[in-house]
Amino acid sequence: MTETEKRAAAKIPGEDTGIEIKKSVCPVCDRGCGINAYVKDGKIIKIEGCETHPASKGLLCPRGISARGYIYKKDRVLYPLKRVGERGEGKFERISWDEAYRTIAEKLGAVKAQYGPQAVTVYSGHTKWYRTFVQRFAFSFGTPNYATESSCCFTHGYMAGKSVLGFNVGPDMKNAGVFLGWSYCPHRDPRDLKAVLGFKKNGGKLIVVDCRRTQTAEIADIFLQPVPGTDLAIILCMANILIENGWIDKEYIDKYVYGFDKFKEAASKYGKDNIEALSGVKYEDIFRACELIHGHLPMAINKFNGHHVNGFNANRALYALSAITGCYDVKGGQSPKPFAFQHMGGGFKTLDREFCEEKRPLSPLPVGGDRFPLWNWYEHEAQAISIPDSVLDGQPYETRAILGFGLNYRMWPDSQRMKKALGKLDFFADMDLFLTDTAKMADIVLPAVTTVERSDLKFYPGGYMWYPAPVIEPLGESRSDEQVVCDLAEIMDLDDPVLRSGIVPTYDHILRDLSFRVRDVSGPEPVKVADFKPWQPMQALTEGLPTPTGKIELSSSVIEEHPEWGLCSVPDYMPAFDEKEAAEYPLVLVAGARNKNRFHSRLTNHPWETAAAGEIDVQIHPDDAAELGIKDGDRVAVETRAGSIELKASVTEVSRKGSVNIYHDDPSAPVNDIIPSDRRDPYTGFPAFKSSRCRVRKAAAR
Ligand code: SF4
Repeated sequence: MTETEKRAAAKIPGEDTGIEIKKSVCPVCDRGCGINAYVKDGKIIKIEGCETHPASKGLLCPRGISARGYIYKKDRVLYPLKRVGERGEGKFERISWDEAYRTIAEKLGAVKAQYGPQAVTVYSGHTKWYRTFVQRFAFSFGTPNYATESSCCFTHGYMAGKSVLGFNVGPDMKNAGVFLGWSYCPHRDPRDLKAVLGFKKNGGKLIVVDCRRTQTAEIADIFLQPVPGTDLAIILCMANILIENGWIDKEYIDKYVYGFDKFKEAASKYGKDNIEALSGVKYEDIFRACELIHGHLPMAINKFNGHHVNGFNANRALYALSAITGCYDVKGGQSPKPFAFQHMGGGFKTLDREFCEEKRPLSPLPVGGDRFPLWNWYEHEAQAISIPDSVLDGQPYETRAILGFGLNYRMWPDSQRMKKALGKLDFFADMDLFLTDTAKMADIVLPAVTTVERSDLKFYPGGYMWYPAPVIEPLGESRSDEQVVCDLAEIMDLDDPVLRSGIVPTYDHILRDLSFRVRDVSGPEPVKVADFKPWQPMQALTEGLPTPTGKIELSSSVIEEHPEWGLCSVPDYMPAFDEKEAAEYPLVLVAGARNKNRFHSRLTNHPWETAAAGEIDVQIHPDDAAELGIKDGDRVAVETRAGSIELKASVTEVSRKGSVNIYHDDPSAPVNDIIPSDRRDPYTGFPAFKSSRCRVRKAAAR
């Protein structure tokens, strides 16, 4: 081997080896960690973390480290496809982009002409970079039914932020004395793990509340493990203890808080007499947590996914804990993080909301808007979990066609019902990276690109912006989602000259009030823009919050003004389960926790990650396993009133006694198939992924 051959084999960049390092963004999730892509002959041969990236600083999680396998995964869709077999069968033939565009334009146009524009839903799935384009397209087409997977992801938390504080917030962990980690497990992500380990090293106190005994629980000063779905009762009990003991900031409350007395009354119902029976956590342990909070203020709190009927209110109540201890908008507490673009905070504001709102049809209400009026009040989009009701039952009216970008029916509770809905549509087109089980249901499949094959606008904390150049050519004939939206707007002759003008002019239109344009942030690295204004503690409170009262609303004035919605203006606990089911289904099923080697189902069939993640299993507590005669490794059936799945049992104290956990990301054990779809948070329409009743039994030998 020559010296050059040795260097090439070791993937050392240089003119002699023909290997070049190009900076880009990890394609797997929307955190946008910086990568160095080693490119040779137009192909990425290696990926590593980029140390100069302002947000990730060289760190990559296990999923990002394996991103090369994701980009080149064998089931990438490389050309536009037309279905030639039955829906779901997976038989397609290659067509041209022209034919794909023409078919989509004709089919959507025909549904609009016959049933009205609301019969078409335009849907955005997995990642978020193109959502402004997709939403604007839907509204310009004339349908109010723009929908996203955020209908069961984090929007309920953002809604809670908007309701209580007027905007999104984030924790100032670096300066906090105590951190309340709610359903909090940074051990799956090195960026977050580094932050919490640094916090602990500096003497910060960590309280973890989680129905699962995770690695993070093991490093907590106090760990509380409630029955899944009952955590709101614990937050209210904490508030009650803090109030009763005078461990609150009365002056701050008098000045900046609206609805304290109503909230105090709601919280007063949860204490020594009932909290252990409700939540499974001892009053004394909750009291100890409150003592620790009081002794180490200021307190920062993470945002969390409360996927159960009390999810919105649990998030509201956590913000209330921050408010009554005087920790909102102060150093070491919670800081305001208004959205700059889509759901990203940037310390300045683009005109992305205005861009969509100016085209929004005001009637009819989007699907789900009548059943979940608070959702509709804040979000102005369809509640996606209601789509099957619309397709299958015509409620509140019929959906006949869907144009999807990364739609995945497996994210729906009772997923087979959504699959059935896709099968009933007059027309379904889906754009995706891979020929997924959902894409196999489509009439037309469009090939998407990953981040390394496209450019799009990225926002990072501290006012950093970036429009990275593609580092390789798109694979096959794949295209960017934004390009497809702009092309379709042109081909369908939509009354939208901005969208029809193309990607960069559209971005520049959204940035028009700011000092920079796309070209100014198109260099090799993220750029700090002059519009960024760092957070000044107490500024938001002093200037008045963007809530109707201008204050922190512990009682929602929006809900107070709409008694017809039947919602409670303060966060009050409702039973997490249907007790009638308890005898038949004695255990609680928790789905939705994240495996560190997966990002939802995105790395399914990825050889490294599948090997590292291992076989999907149901985690069951040793006491429950012993009672049921189940041993580690046994095949078991997990059953709910919605259905049954079979998988391997893993006997572990990760699960609380009385509950079982199943990761939600593997088609070999599709846990969402057995989550009933009718039990939903009345404030947001979110499904109860984390609190359905189930039973477990040994499966018959195969
Ligand atoms: S998958 Fe991991 S490395 Fe990639 S962007 Fe997300 S957090 Fe960062």
